[in-house]
Amino acid sequence: MRAFFLLGLSLFVYFQTVAQSELRYTWEDEFTEVEKQKVRAWLSTTYKAVQSKIGEYPFDVYVHIHRREGKEEPCPWANTWRYPKQQIFFHIDPNYSLEEFLADWTAPHEMSHLAIPYIGEKEAWFSEGFASFLQYQVMLEMGEMTKMSIDSAYNSKFSGVLEYYRSTESVGDIAIQKRKESNYKAMYWGGANLFYQWNQQLIEKENREFSSLFQEYLKCCRKTSRGVDGVVKAIDEVYGGTIGQDLLFKFRNGESGANFKF
Ligand SMILES: [Zn+2]
Repeated sequence: MRAFFLLGLSLFVYFQTVAQSELRYTWEDEFTEVEKQKVRAWLSTTYKAVQSKIGEYPFDVYVHIHRREGKEEPCPWANTWRYPKQQIFFHIDPNYSLEEFLADWTAPHEMSHLAIPYIGEKEAWFSEGFASFLQYQVMLEMGEMTKMSIDSAYNSKFSGVLEYYRSTESVGDIAIQKRKESNYKAMYWGGANLFYQWNQQLIEKENREFSSLFQEYLKCCRKTSRGVDGVVKAIDEVYGGTIGQDLLFKFRNGESGANFKF
């Protein structure tokens, strides 16, 4: 009896240690075997880069593949759902090549979203900013972009929305307003600026990148941290500082003209 218990216990420990987060596919429309292989190659390559750059997610990711042709891009629409499972819905045009899928930012963006819990609509600028900042970090890891090309991409995205962030209102308030006006680009990149600055300050002060905090955050806090404040505090605690909380305070309360920086 005791031997069985010990065997059971060691098997449990073994599977706990080797259990890896996996992608689980649902084909929502008809796809040929060749198309399915291409989609699997695209998403598994992206997910590997997410895991090496951000960390091992403490759950499997359920991907739903829909067909949407004729929109002149490989993945014209995608979104995530966190309940009851961690899910991503990809609407794709399988006529594009694997190279074209891999060069697209959508999968790195959607997969990055899952590193933090659902934040709620009210502060969507925070979660969209988070995924928009990380999408290029993941593409760098994939070898789809270089350090130089991500720096120039951040620069061009921030320059493109700078005009909206020169006022005395806070970055958060402007981002919320831009979303109401359906100016998503302004909302996404206004939010992303917080994470860009967080990364820059961490490199300068702690000699580490923002994404390097997630190995630990995913283990300790991904399933327990709640809301923007809870998430930022938990990430700050990983390195024992308050860069994130200080930036969040400025983005919510300070003048955007003084706080939107790149
Ligand atoms: Zn998004």
